[in-house]
Amino acid sequence: NRFEEMELHPVIMENLQLSHYTVPTPIQRACIPTILKGYDLIACAQTGSGKTAAFLAPIISKLMGKIKTLTAARAARGGYGRKAEPLVLIVAPTRELATQIFLECRKFCYRSFMRPCLVYGGADMRPQRSELEKGCDLVVGTPGRLQDFIDRGNISLGRVRYTIIDEADEMLDMGFEPQIRKLLHSGDHNEDEDLQIMMFSATFPASVRKLAKEFLADDYVRIN
Ligand code: AMP
Repeated sequence: NRFEEMELHPVIMENLQLSHYTVPTPIQRACIPTILKGYDLIACAQTGSGKTAAFLAPIISKLMGKIKTLTAARAARGGYGRKAEPLVLIVAPTRELATQIFLECRKFCYRSFMRPCLVYGGADMRPQRSELEKGCDLVVGTPGRLQDFIDRGNISLGRVRYTIIDEADEMLDMGFEPQIRKLLHSGDHNEDEDLQIMMFSATFPASVRKLAKEFLADDYVRIN
């Protein structure tokens, strides 16, 4: 199927065109309808497969469907607070991958009234914190730095509706399991609509399968 048949929001359709994404990649064909329907998923995907747009396009599309309510709620709180309260949490193992994801976020957030932020370790916290303070609807980050900002009170995950764990196998190999578990336990479990979790991994060792079984909804979809 084509992007035109996927019931994506018009802003997303425009941004796909601006990025010259005309034909969906296989992972996009599989993931976009599944995510739009609200299923949790675990997908086998390598870098270069188009996996980033496979989750960003449907998630931002869904948020755009409620943009009036979301921006009204934001205005009622007096705009973005000093503390970042993102709706979308994206966790990636390295600075490079997080940066690539962030650049895709910027493309898809164009004219969406949503603001992405990027945080990663090994760099000064101050410029990252001042970006968070300008407003943050989507946060992309490496596990350690995300935890740092949460512990310092600069990020709260209380409003998160969508969590994406990218390169799950890689992060578990790097010893980030405690951080990932902590991040997966956060998020907004009290809304009428549930937290949706998406995991991407190149391989499916027992450690990744265990994490999926524990945190994803029982009816999660596995995409190969
Ligand atoms: P990713 O696997 O998400 O890192 O994406 C790999 C590259 O493919 C990125 O540079 C994207 O800009 C590009 N890309 C993603 N989806 C499409 C598409 N449907 N058509 C053309 N290029 C794409």
